[in-house]
Amino acid sequence: MKDHGPDVVCVPCADYEPVRVRAALEAAVAPFGGLDWVKPGMRIGIKANLVAAMRPERAATTHPALLRALVDLIEEKGAEAVVGDSPGGLYNGAFLNRVYQAAGLNAAGLPLNHDFSTREIRLPEGKLCKRATVTGWLLDCDGIINFAKLKSHGMMGLSAAAKNLFGSVPGTMKPEYHFRFPDPADFADMLLDLDEFWRPRLHLVDAVLAMEGNGPTAGQPRPVGCLLAGENPHRIDLLCAGLIGLEPGTVPTLRAAWDRGLCPRTPEELEILGPWRSFVTEGFQIITQRNGLQFQSIMGGGRRGALFSKFLSRSIAARPGVDKAACVGCRRCQQICPAKAIVMKNRRPVIDRKACIRCFCCQEFCPEGAMRVRRPPLARLLER
Ligand code: SF4
Ligand code: SF4
Repeated sequence: MKDHGPDVVCVPCADYEPVRVRAALEAAVAPFGGLDWVKPGMRIGIKANLVAAMRPERAATTHPALLRALVDLIEEKGAEAVVGDSPGGLYNGAFLNRVYQAAGLNAAGLPLNHDFSTREIRLPEGKLCKRATVTGWLLDCDGIINFAKLKSHGMMGLSAAAKNLFGSVPGTMKPEYHFRFPDPADFADMLLDLDEFWRPRLHLVDAVLAMEGNGPTAGQPRPVGCLLAGENPHRIDLLCAGLIGLEPGTVPTLRAAWDRGLCPRTPEELEILGPWRSFVTEGFQIITQRNGLQFQSIMGGGRRGALFSKFLSRSIAARPGVDKAACVGCRRCQQICPAKAIVMKNRRPVIDRKACIRCFCCQEFCPEGAMRVRRPPLARLLER
């Protein structure tokens, strides 16, 4: 997978001032040939993170200044650029136009995707996912650049390069995928199957202003101050984990990448160009997900270890919980829950714990940040 250049390039970028952004982007892509593969007449799809209709300063979406600079670089090579994504919810013009508007993409004059067709694909090489329904616009591109945002994430711990390609699944279909792959390890394998299918030519991560805490939509902006680039999403994500103090073994996509031999175990094993250590952000608020494998290894493996780890995993698994004071009773969580595990009582959501598959869609799409990732007392005790 590693073609040329280092594993990851880490370039300082203190803010979204256009001149600074352009210089940072040029420096980030230069070690990978400076987009020399982009030829006149090509159509290049830029898969941004447009998770919700949120303003750029909320740090939930890829910043429009960075997208503008990338579009300029592509157009200067005589190619056509198209920016798009499919967040959770409807996949149509009315819904996406609201997202484009709020995320500052219209104001930046960006060429935006307006093809909302969907198509079936086969993934014969997929480990878990052999077929999928995906957004048609990406299939029509001659090359894809994945432009993600660095954020904490309720279900996957980390939202960066590998997670971002879930946006190639139409928003209306996402609940079905959560239902098909309720286990985070399976969900991660599905994501890797998608990543391997799309194989973007380049991955970029906007870590200028990241999101910490109740991510990927209701956390707080946190400056990290850099832009990351690479040809392998998992190597970039490994560095992202290192930058925000997240233990790589708690990130399901990284564990899946280890199993497939796609990524080393620690940032120190990566070939990194740039002063990455100066961007390690102390006290970054993260959401860690403990997993059964760690406990199985403590018990020495075998049937006893497997049973114990299963019991312990269930006892300490994070789950969604409602902050009743912040909830406005809008029912969005109930509407989006793929397991139909939420009912409204007195205008507040009540979760059926047995039915809940812990996909954290309710947490991701609560517009008030009222749905939180809660960790049981035993989990907090073990964490200490
Ligand atoms: S989506 Fe959030 S605000 Fe709306 S009902 Fe659910 S918890 Fe409350
Ligand atoms: S309650 Fe939330 S976490 Fe549980 S299945 Fe529904 S959306 Fe997913």
